[in-house]
Amino acid sequence: MLQSQALFEKAKLYIPGGVNSPVRAFNGVGGTPVFFERAQGPFLFDEDNNRYIDYVGSWGPMILGHQDKDVLKSIEIALGKALSFGAPTRAEVLLAEFICQHIPSVDQVRMVCSGTEATMTALRLARGVTGKDMIVKFEGCYHGHSDSLLIKAGSGALTLGQPSSPGVPADFAKHTLNLEFNNSDAVYSAFAEHGDKIAAVIVEPIAGNMGCVLPNRQFLLALRQACDNHGALLIFDEVITGFRVAFGGAQSVYQVTPDITTFGKIIGGGMPVGALGGKRSIMSHLAPVGPVYQAGTLAGNPIAMAAGLATLSKLTTPGFYESIHQKTQTLVTGLSQAAKKHAIPLHINWTTGMFTLFFNDSEVNCFNDVMKSDVERFKKFFHGMLDKGIYFGPSAFESAFVSIAHTDECIAQTISSADDVFATLK
Ligand SMILES: *Cc1c(COP(=O)(O)O)cnc(C)c1O
Repeated sequence: MLQSQALFEKAKLYIPGGVNSPVRAFNGVGGTPVFFERAQGPFLFDEDNNRYIDYVGSWGPMILGHQDKDVLKSIEIALGKALSFGAPTRAEVLLAEFICQHIPSVDQVRMVCSGTEATMTALRLARGVTGKDMIVKFEGCYHGHSDSLLIKAGSGALTLGQPSSPGVPADFAKHTLNLEFNNSDAVYSAFAEHGDKIAAVIVEPIAGNMGCVLPNRQFLLALRQACDNHGALLIFDEVITGFRVAFGGAQSVYQVTPDITTFGKIIGGGMPVGALGGKRSIMSHLAPVGPVYQAGTLAGNPIAMAAGLATLSKLTTPGFYESIHQKTQTLVTGLSQAAKKHAIPLHINWTTGMFTLFFNDSEVNCFNDVMKSDVERFKKFFHGMLDKGIYFGPSAFESAFVSIAHTDECIAQTISSADDVFATLK
Protein backbone atom coordinates (compact mmCIF):
# COMPACT_ATOMS: atom_id res chain seq x y z
CA MET A 1 0.00 0.00 0.00
CA LEU A 2 3.08 2.25 -0.05
CA GLN A 3 2.29 3.73 -3.46
CA SER A 4 -1.36 4.32 -2.56
CA GLN A 5 -0.34 6.08 0.64
CA ALA A 6 2.19 8.28 -1.13
CA LEU A 7 -0.25 9.13 -3.92
CA PHE A 8 -3.02 9.92 -1.43
CA GLU A 9 -0.76 12.35 0.45
CA LYS A 10 0.08 14.10 -2.80
CA ALA A 11 -3.53 13.97 -4.01
CA LYS A 12 -4.68 15.78 -0.86
CA LEU A 13 -2.39 18.68 -1.74
CA TYR A 14 -3.88 19.21 -5.16
CA ILE A 15 -7.42 17.82 -5.06
CA PRO A 16 -9.95 18.56 -2.28
CA GLY A 17 -9.85 15.52 -0.01
CA GLY A 18 -7.55 13.84 -2.52
CA VAL A 19 -10.47 12.52 -4.59
CA ASN A 20 -12.76 13.53 -7.43
CA SER A 21 -15.88 11.97 -5.90
CA PRO A 22 -16.40 11.87 -2.12
CA VAL A 23 -17.03 8.16 -1.43
CA ARG A 24 -13.62 7.31 -2.90
CA ALA A 25 -11.90 8.96 0.09
CA PHE A 26 -12.72 5.94 2.33
CA ASN A 27 -14.36 8.21 4.94
CA GLY A 28 -17.07 5.58 5.27
CA VAL A 29 -14.61 2.85 6.24
CA GLY A 30 -11.46 4.63 7.43
CA GLY A 31 -7.94 4.04 6.13
CA THR A 32 -6.23 4.98 2.90
CA PRO A 33 -8.01 4.71 -0.44
CA VAL A 34 -6.49 2.23 -2.83
CA PHE A 35 -5.07 3.85 -5.97
CA PHE A 36 -5.60 1.62 -8.98
CA GLU A 37 -3.39 1.27 -11.97
CA ARG A 38 -5.05 -1.24 -14.28
CA ALA A 39 -7.80 -3.82 -14.49
CA GLN A 40 -8.56 -7.00 -16.36
CA GLY A 41 -11.81 -8.98 -16.41
CA PRO A 42 -13.04 -9.22 -12.78
CA PHE A 43 -9.74 -8.01 -11.34
CA LEU A 44 -8.27 -4.68 -10.29
CA PHE A 45 -4.55 -4.08 -9.77
CA ASP A 46 -3.40 -1.30 -7.49
CA GLU A 47 -0.30 0.89 -7.73
CA ASP A 48 1.54 -1.61 -5.51
CA ASN A 49 0.56 -4.41 -7.90
CA ASN A 50 -1.85 -6.10 -5.49
CA ARG A 51 -4.74 -7.89 -7.19
CA TYR A 52 -8.37 -7.55 -6.08
CA ILE A 53 -11.63 -9.15 -7.18
CA ASP A 54 -13.75 -6.14 -8.13
CA TYR A 55 -17.32 -5.77 -6.83
CA VAL A 56 -17.53 -2.05 -7.61
CA GLY A 57 -17.22 -2.23 -11.40
CA SER A 58 -16.79 1.56 -11.54
CA TRP A 59 -20.13 1.71 -9.66
CA GLY A 60 -21.96 -0.24 -12.32
CA PRO A 61 -20.75 0.38 -15.88
CA MET A 62 -18.38 -2.59 -16.13
CA ILE A 63 -21.02 -5.29 -16.57
CA LEU A 64 -18.72 -7.08 -19.04
CA GLY A 65 -15.77 -6.88 -16.68
CA HIS A 66 -12.72 -4.76 -17.46
CA GLN A 67 -10.97 -4.46 -20.81
CA ASP A 68 -13.51 -6.45 -22.78
CA LYS A 69 -11.88 -7.17 -26.15
CA ASP A 70 -14.85 -6.21 -28.29
CA VAL A 71 -15.36 -2.93 -26.46
CA LEU A 72 -11.68 -2.07 -26.80
CA LYS A 73 -11.74 -2.95 -30.50
CA SER A 74 -14.72 -0.69 -31.07
CA ILE A 75 -13.03 2.16 -29.20
CA GLU A 76 -9.83 1.68 -31.20
CA ILE A 77 -11.72 2.00 -34.47
CA ALA A 78 -13.40 5.18 -33.22
CA LEU A 79 -10.05 6.54 -31.98
CA GLY A 80 -8.65 6.15 -35.46
CA LYS A 81 -11.30 8.52 -36.81
CA ALA A 82 -11.75 11.43 -34.39
CA LEU A 83 -11.98 12.26 -30.69
CA SER A 84 -14.81 14.75 -30.95
CA PHE A 85 -16.62 16.83 -33.54
CA GLY A 86 -19.30 18.68 -31.63
CA ALA A 87 -21.44 17.75 -34.62
CA PRO A 88 -23.74 14.85 -35.52
CA THR A 89 -22.27 11.37 -36.02
CA ARG A 90 -23.41 7.92 -37.13
CA ALA A 91 -22.41 6.39 -33.78
CA GLU A 92 -24.83 8.47 -31.73
CA VAL A 93 -27.68 7.58 -34.08
CA LEU A 94 -26.88 3.87 -33.75
CA LEU A 95 -26.79 4.02 -29.95
CA ALA A 96 -30.02 6.02 -29.80
CA GLU A 97 -31.68 3.59 -32.22
CA PHE A 98 -30.51 0.63 -30.14
CA ILE A 99 -31.98 2.03 -26.93
CA CYS A 100 -35.28 3.00 -28.57
CA GLN A 101 -35.68 -0.38 -30.26
CA HIS A 102 -35.14 -2.28 -27.03
CA ILE A 103 -36.87 -0.15 -24.38
CA PRO A 104 -40.60 0.06 -25.20
CA SER A 105 -41.21 3.22 -23.14
CA VAL A 106 -38.53 5.10 -25.09
CA ASP A 107 -39.18 6.53 -28.58
CA GLN A 108 -36.37 9.08 -28.49
CA VAL A 109 -33.26 9.72 -26.41
CA ARG A 110 -31.00 12.68 -25.77
CA MET A 111 -27.38 11.85 -24.95
CA VAL A 112 -25.57 13.76 -22.20
CA CYS A 113 -22.26 13.22 -20.40
CA SER A 114 -23.29 11.96 -16.94
CA GLY A 115 -26.17 10.58 -14.93
CA THR A 116 -26.38 13.87 -13.06
CA GLU A 117 -26.99 15.71 -16.32
CA ALA A 118 -29.57 13.15 -17.37
CA THR A 119 -31.70 13.53 -14.23
CA MET A 120 -31.25 17.31 -14.15
CA THR A 121 -32.50 17.52 -17.73
CA ALA A 122 -35.32 15.07 -17.03
CA LEU A 123 -36.59 17.35 -14.25
CA ARG A 124 -36.38 20.43 -16.43
CA LEU A 125 -38.23 18.58 -19.19
CA ALA A 126 -40.95 17.42 -16.78
CA ARG A 127 -41.34 20.95 -15.43
CA GLY A 128 -41.39 22.36 -18.95
CA VAL A 129 -43.99 19.86 -20.16
CA THR A 130 -46.34 20.17 -17.17
CA GLY A 131 -45.85 23.84 -16.39
CA LYS A 132 -45.48 22.86 -12.71
CA ASP A 133 -42.53 23.18 -10.34
CA MET A 134 -42.66 20.58 -7.57
CA ILE A 135 -40.73 17.32 -7.59
CA VAL A 136 -41.30 14.24 -5.46
CA LYS A 137 -38.28 12.09 -4.63
CA PHE A 138 -37.56 9.38 -2.06
CA GLU A 139 -35.27 9.29 0.91
CA GLY A 140 -32.11 7.30 0.20
CA CYS A 141 -32.51 7.50 -3.58
CA TYR A 142 -29.66 9.35 -5.27
CA HIS A 143 -30.06 10.99 -8.63
CA GLY A 144 -26.80 12.89 -9.02
CA HIS A 145 -25.87 16.19 -7.45
CA SER A 146 -28.02 18.83 -9.14
CA ASP A 147 -29.69 21.42 -6.88
CA SER A 148 -33.26 20.09 -7.07
CA LEU A 149 -32.12 16.64 -6.02
CA LEU A 150 -29.73 17.35 -3.14
CA ILE A 151 -32.69 17.68 -0.83
CA LYS A 152 -33.50 15.99 2.46
CA ALA A 153 -36.86 15.67 4.14
CA GLY A 154 -38.16 18.52 6.27
CA SER A 155 -39.25 17.88 9.85
CA GLY A 156 -42.54 16.23 8.88
CA ALA A 157 -43.15 13.89 5.99
CA LEU A 158 -45.18 16.42 4.03
CA THR A 159 -43.17 19.51 4.85
CA LEU A 160 -41.18 20.98 2.03
CA GLY A 161 -37.63 19.77 1.51
CA GLN A 162 -34.48 21.30 2.93
CA PRO A 163 -31.10 21.55 1.22
CA SER A 164 -28.87 18.57 2.05
CA SER A 165 -25.80 20.58 1.05
CA PRO A 166 -24.70 24.17 1.59
CA GLY A 167 -24.93 25.95 -1.73
CA VAL A 168 -28.40 24.65 -2.53
CA PRO A 169 -30.78 27.60 -2.10
CA ALA A 170 -33.71 27.00 0.28
CA ASP A 171 -35.84 28.60 -2.43
CA PHE A 172 -34.91 25.64 -4.59
CA ALA A 173 -35.40 23.02 -1.90
CA LYS A 174 -38.96 24.08 -1.24
CA HIS A 175 -39.94 22.65 -4.63
CA THR A 176 -38.84 19.12 -3.70
CA LEU A 177 -40.75 16.73 -1.44
CA ASN A 178 -38.73 13.86 0.00
CA LEU A 179 -40.88 10.84 0.89
CA GLU A 180 -40.23 7.36 2.26
CA PHE A 181 -39.35 4.69 -0.33
CA ASN A 182 -41.90 1.85 -0.56
CA ASN A 183 -44.53 3.94 1.25
CA SER A 184 -47.52 4.34 -1.07
CA ASP A 185 -49.61 6.18 1.53
CA ALA A 186 -47.00 8.92 1.72
CA VAL A 187 -47.30 9.33 -2.04
CA TYR A 188 -51.09 9.54 -1.99
CA SER A 189 -50.95 12.09 0.87
CA ALA A 190 -48.38 14.20 -0.95
CA PHE A 191 -50.53 14.28 -4.08
CA ALA A 192 -53.67 15.00 -2.06
CA GLU A 193 -51.97 18.08 -0.65
CA HIS A 194 -49.77 19.25 -3.55
CA GLY A 195 -51.10 17.41 -6.61
CA ASP A 196 -51.79 20.55 -8.62
CA LYS A 197 -48.15 21.66 -8.19
CA ILE A 198 -46.27 18.38 -8.75
CA ALA A 199 -44.44 18.19 -12.08
CA ALA A 200 -42.80 14.81 -11.57
CA VAL A 201 -42.00 11.89 -9.33
CA ILE A 202 -38.43 10.66 -9.69
CA VAL A 203 -37.43 7.29 -8.27
CA GLU A 204 -34.77 4.63 -8.57
CA PRO A 205 -37.22 1.80 -9.40
CA ILE A 206 -34.77 -0.51 -7.65
CA ALA A 207 -32.83 1.63 -5.22
CA GLY A 208 -29.08 1.21 -5.50
CA ASN A 209 -27.70 4.21 -3.68
CA MET A 210 -28.77 3.44 -0.11
CA GLY A 211 -27.50 -0.02 -0.78
CA CYS A 212 -29.75 -2.27 -2.83
CA VAL A 213 -33.39 -1.88 -1.75
CA LEU A 214 -36.07 -3.59 -3.78
CA PRO A 215 -39.41 -1.93 -4.44
CA ASN A 216 -42.76 -3.36 -3.67
CA ARG A 217 -44.51 -3.52 -7.06
CA GLN A 218 -47.59 -1.93 -5.48
CA PHE A 219 -45.44 1.06 -4.59
CA LEU A 220 -44.32 1.56 -8.21
CA LEU A 221 -47.92 1.14 -9.36
CA ALA A 222 -49.01 3.74 -6.81
CA LEU A 223 -46.51 6.18 -8.31
CA ARG A 224 -47.86 5.49 -11.79
CA GLN A 225 -51.43 5.98 -10.64
CA ALA A 226 -50.78 9.15 -8.63
CA CYS A 227 -48.94 10.71 -11.57
CA ASP A 228 -51.73 9.80 -13.98
CA ASN A 229 -54.42 11.15 -11.69
CA HIS A 230 -52.68 14.50 -11.25
CA GLY A 231 -51.02 15.16 -14.60
CA ALA A 232 -47.49 14.59 -13.31
CA LEU A 233 -44.73 12.69 -15.10
CA LEU A 234 -43.12 9.55 -13.70
CA ILE A 235 -39.33 9.47 -14.06
CA PHE A 236 -37.52 6.17 -13.55
CA ASP A 237 -33.88 6.83 -12.82
CA GLU A 238 -32.37 3.68 -14.30
CA VAL A 239 -28.80 4.99 -14.34
CA ILE A 240 -27.80 1.87 -12.38
CA THR A 241 -30.59 -0.56 -13.19
CA GLY A 242 -30.86 0.10 -16.94
CA PHE A 243 -29.41 -2.89 -18.82
CA ARG A 244 -28.26 -4.38 -15.48
CA VAL A 245 -31.13 -6.04 -13.59
CA ALA A 246 -32.56 -7.16 -16.94
CA PHE A 247 -32.00 -6.12 -20.51
CA GLY A 248 -35.10 -3.93 -20.26
CA GLY A 249 -34.17 -2.53 -16.86
CA ALA A 250 -36.31 -2.44 -13.72
CA GLN A 251 -39.32 -1.24 -15.74
CA SER A 252 -39.36 -4.57 -17.59
CA VAL A 253 -39.01 -6.55 -14.35
CA TYR A 254 -41.86 -4.80 -12.54
CA GLN A 255 -43.92 -4.06 -15.65
CA VAL A 256 -44.49 -0.45 -14.71
CA THR A 257 -44.02 2.12 -17.47
CA PRO A 258 -42.43 5.49 -16.73
CA ASP A 259 -42.86 8.64 -18.82
CA ILE A 260 -39.16 9.44 -18.79
CA THR A 261 -36.22 7.11 -18.15
CA THR A 262 -32.71 8.23 -17.32
CA PHE A 263 -29.71 6.08 -18.19
CA GLY A 264 -25.98 6.25 -17.54
CA LYS A 265 -23.24 3.90 -16.34
CA ILE A 266 -23.68 0.75 -18.53
CA ILE A 267 -24.76 2.66 -21.65
CA GLY A 268 -21.32 4.32 -21.68
CA GLY A 269 -19.41 1.07 -21.17
CA GLY A 270 -17.01 2.89 -18.80
CA MET A 271 -16.90 6.21 -20.65
CA PRO A 272 -18.71 9.32 -19.33
CA VAL A 273 -22.27 9.05 -20.68
CA GLY A 274 -25.82 9.69 -19.57
CA ALA A 275 -29.10 9.78 -21.47
CA LEU A 276 -32.76 10.49 -21.02
CA GLY A 277 -35.53 9.04 -23.08
CA GLY A 278 -39.29 8.79 -23.32
CA LYS A 279 -42.27 9.10 -25.60
CA ARG A 280 -41.86 11.33 -28.63
CA SER A 281 -44.65 13.61 -27.36
CA ILE A 282 -42.57 14.36 -24.26
CA MET A 283 -39.08 14.38 -25.79
CA SER A 284 -40.22 16.78 -28.51
CA HIS A 285 -40.37 19.52 -25.88
CA LEU A 286 -36.54 19.54 -25.84
CA ALA A 287 -34.64 22.08 -27.92
CA PRO A 288 -34.28 22.41 -30.88
CA VAL A 289 -37.79 21.01 -31.54
CA GLY A 290 -39.35 22.47 -28.40
CA PRO A 291 -38.60 25.24 -25.94
CA VAL A 292 -36.97 23.28 -23.05
CA TYR A 293 -33.28 24.10 -23.31
CA GLN A 294 -30.44 21.58 -23.00
CA ALA A 295 -27.07 21.31 -24.75
CA GLY A 296 -23.62 19.70 -24.44
CA THR A 297 -20.22 20.30 -26.07
CA LEU A 298 -19.16 16.67 -25.75
CA ALA A 299 -22.64 15.11 -25.73
CA GLY A 300 -22.79 12.04 -27.98
CA ASN A 301 -18.99 11.89 -28.00
CA PRO A 302 -17.93 9.34 -30.64
CA ILE A 303 -15.51 7.42 -28.39
CA ALA A 304 -18.14 7.16 -25.65
CA MET A 305 -20.80 6.11 -28.17
CA ALA A 306 -18.48 3.40 -29.51
CA ALA A 307 -17.88 2.03 -26.01
CA GLY A 308 -21.59 2.15 -25.20
CA LEU A 309 -22.77 0.52 -28.38
CA ALA A 310 -20.19 -2.28 -28.16
CA THR A 311 -21.18 -2.93 -24.54
CA LEU A 312 -24.92 -2.95 -25.18
CA SER A 313 -24.56 -5.18 -28.25
CA LYS A 314 -22.93 -7.87 -26.13
CA LEU A 315 -25.80 -7.82 -23.65
CA THR A 316 -28.09 -9.31 -26.30
CA THR A 317 -26.12 -12.58 -26.16
CA PRO A 318 -28.65 -15.32 -25.31
CA GLY A 319 -28.42 -16.32 -21.65
CA PHE A 320 -26.41 -13.25 -20.63
CA TYR A 321 -28.75 -12.13 -17.85
CA GLU A 322 -29.46 -15.70 -16.71
CA SER A 323 -25.72 -16.08 -16.26
CA ILE A 324 -25.34 -12.84 -14.28
CA HIS A 325 -28.35 -13.85 -12.20
CA GLN A 326 -26.86 -17.27 -11.49
CA LYS A 327 -23.51 -15.77 -10.47
CA THR A 328 -25.18 -13.26 -8.17
CA GLN A 329 -27.38 -15.93 -6.61
CA THR A 330 -24.46 -18.29 -5.99
CA LEU A 331 -22.48 -15.50 -4.38
CA VAL A 332 -25.19 -14.14 -2.08
CA THR A 333 -26.30 -17.63 -1.06
CA GLY A 334 -22.74 -18.50 -0.09
CA LEU A 335 -22.27 -15.23 1.78
CA SER A 336 -25.55 -15.72 3.68
CA GLN A 337 -24.62 -19.25 4.67
CA ALA A 338 -21.19 -18.14 5.86
CA ALA A 339 -22.72 -15.37 7.99
CA LYS A 340 -25.24 -17.81 9.46
CA LYS A 341 -22.49 -20.26 10.34
CA HIS A 342 -20.78 -17.57 12.42
CA ALA A 343 -24.08 -16.22 13.80
CA ILE A 344 -23.53 -12.79 12.22
CA PRO A 345 -26.86 -10.99 11.64
CA LEU A 346 -26.89 -10.25 7.93
CA HIS A 347 -29.58 -9.38 5.42
CA ILE A 348 -28.54 -9.46 1.79
CA ASN A 349 -30.79 -7.57 -0.59
CA TRP A 350 -30.13 -8.57 -4.13
CA THR A 351 -31.33 -8.78 -7.68
CA THR A 352 -29.64 -9.72 -10.95
CA GLY A 353 -26.14 -8.24 -10.97
CA MET A 354 -26.37 -6.20 -7.76
CA PHE A 355 -26.55 -6.78 -4.01
CA THR A 356 -25.83 -5.25 -0.62
CA LEU A 357 -24.80 -6.85 2.65
CA PHE A 358 -26.74 -5.16 5.44
CA PHE A 359 -25.44 -6.11 8.87
CA ASN A 360 -28.93 -5.90 10.20
CA ASP A 361 -31.37 -8.08 12.18
CA SER A 362 -34.40 -7.28 10.10
CA GLU A 363 -35.52 -6.71 6.54
CA VAL A 364 -34.37 -3.59 4.72
CA ASN A 365 -37.12 -1.91 2.71
CA CYS A 366 -36.47 1.81 3.13
CA PHE A 367 -33.89 4.34 4.29
CA ASN A 368 -34.89 4.03 7.96
CA ASP A 369 -34.24 0.29 7.80
CA VAL A 370 -30.91 0.91 6.08
CA MET A 371 -29.84 3.21 8.89
CA LYS A 372 -30.34 0.43 11.47
CA SER A 373 -27.39 -1.45 9.99
CA ASP A 374 -24.22 -2.00 12.01
CA VAL A 375 -21.74 0.29 10.28
CA GLU A 376 -18.83 -0.60 12.57
CA ARG A 377 -19.24 -4.24 11.62
CA PHE A 378 -19.31 -3.32 7.95
CA LYS A 379 -16.05 -1.39 8.30
CA LYS A 380 -14.34 -4.46 9.78
CA PHE A 381 -15.83 -6.64 7.06
CA PHE A 382 -14.69 -4.23 4.35
CA HIS A 383 -11.08 -4.07 5.57
CA GLY A 384 -10.97 -7.81 6.23
CA MET A 385 -12.05 -8.48 2.66
CA LEU A 386 -9.71 -5.82 1.25
CA ASP A 387 -6.78 -7.50 3.01
CA LYS A 388 -7.79 -10.72 1.26
CA GLY A 389 -7.85 -9.07 -2.15
CA ILE A 390 -11.57 -8.45 -2.47
CA TYR A 391 -12.74 -4.94 -3.24
CA PHE A 392 -16.21 -3.86 -2.13
CA GLY A 393 -17.45 -0.28 -2.27
CA PRO A 394 -15.96 1.69 0.65
CA SER A 395 -19.29 2.42 2.37
CA ALA A 396 -21.96 0.38 4.15
CA PHE A 397 -24.60 2.00 1.98
CA GLU A 398 -23.54 1.08 -1.52
CA SER A 399 -24.54 -1.67 -3.91
CA ALA A 400 -22.01 -4.24 -5.03
CA PHE A 401 -21.97 -5.25 -8.68
CA VAL A 402 -21.39 -8.59 -10.38
CA SER A 403 -20.10 -8.74 -13.95
CA ILE A 404 -20.18 -11.49 -16.54
CA ALA A 405 -16.40 -11.79 -16.04
CA HIS A 406 -16.73 -13.00 -12.43
CA THR A 407 -15.79 -16.67 -12.65
CA ASP A 408 -16.89 -19.52 -10.38
CA GLU A 409 -13.41 -19.35 -8.82
CA CYS A 410 -13.80 -15.63 -8.07
CA ILE A 411 -17.12 -16.30 -6.41
CA ALA A 412 -15.83 -19.28 -4.42
CA GLN A 413 -12.82 -17.26 -3.28
CA THR A 414 -15.08 -14.40 -2.21
CA ILE A 415 -17.27 -16.75 -0.16
CA SER A 416 -14.37 -18.49 1.55
CA SER A 417 -12.71 -15.14 2.32
CA ALA A 418 -15.99 -13.87 3.79
CA ASP A 419 -16.20 -17.04 5.88
CA ASP A 420 -12.77 -16.21 7.36
CA VAL A 421 -13.66 -12.56 7.89
CA PHE A 422 -17.06 -13.29 9.48
CA ALA A 423 -15.23 -15.51 12.00
CA THR A 424 -13.37 -12.40 13.20
CA LEU A 425 -16.49 -10.20 13.48
CA LYS A 426 -18.15 -11.69 16.57
C1 LIG B 1 -24.67 7.21 -10.48
C2 LIG B 1 -26.08 7.68 -10.46
C3 LIG B 1 -26.46 8.96 -10.90
C4 LIG B 1 -25.44 10.01 -11.26
O1 LIG B 1 -24.67 9.65 -12.34
P1 LIG B 1 -23.24 10.37 -12.54
O2 LIG B 1 -22.77 9.84 -13.85
O3 LIG B 1 -22.41 9.97 -11.37
O4 LIG B 1 -23.51 11.83 -12.55
C5 LIG B 1 -27.79 9.27 -10.98
N1 LIG B 1 -28.73 8.37 -10.63
C6 LIG B 1 -28.42 7.15 -10.19
C7 LIG B 1 -29.51 6.19 -9.84
C8 LIG B 1 -27.09 6.78 -10.06
O5 LIG B 1 -26.78 5.57 -9.56
